[in-house]
Amino acid sequence: MIREEGQIPEVNKLVTLAKEAGFTYAAPLAMDALEFRSEVRDMCSADSCKSYGRSWSCPPAVGSIECAAERAGAYSSGIIVQTMGTLDGSFDMKGTAAIMQQHKKSFDTLVRQIRHFYPDCLPMGAGTCRLCRACTYPDRPCRHPDRMVSSMEAYGLLVSDVAIRSGLKYNYGENTMCFTSCILTD
Ligand code: SF4
Repeated sequence: MIREEGQIPEVNKLVTLAKEAGFTYAAPLAMDALEFRSEVRDMCSADSCKSYGRSWSCPPAVGSIECAAERAGAYSSGIIVQTMGTLDGSFDMKGTAAIMQQHKKSFDTLVRQIRHFYPDCLPMGAGTCRLCRACTYPDRPCRHPDRMVSSMEAYGLLVSDVAIRSGLKYNYGENTMCFTSCILTD
């Protein structure tokens, strides 16, 4: 894709950029679907992902739901991206990890590209921040506060609802796994 230096792409061009980065699906983000829910934070505190209280990017360190809503409320557009893959049965942990790894790789690429146009964009990823081999939480400050990425769930977003209201699916059927992230641009 050829772009002039400094040219700001429309959201549909960002969707094309996302597909070039390797995502299976991408769409303009339905901004009215960004509802910041305390019950999603409650799910975080159940710690099923083993990240609660272990990273600066996750609750409780990431801040209150009100702060999350205020930060995201400064934006009026964005895109939502998904990596979907097939699994060899419902206990295919290796397959799940490979799809997650592909999602993170595509997301890192896309965020790097979008920051070229929107330096103040707000990425919301899937899962906890993995920029560092081991997070410094809670003993030392975050090593990369400008590049740290919190998950959509850490912002209190119900990912399935945001995906569906943005015109995508959340569940792509039996023996599939799908990871979802979004980037608020301006
Ligand atoms: S950038 Fe490093 S220190 Fe900061 S939240 Fe991510 S993993 Fe933790």
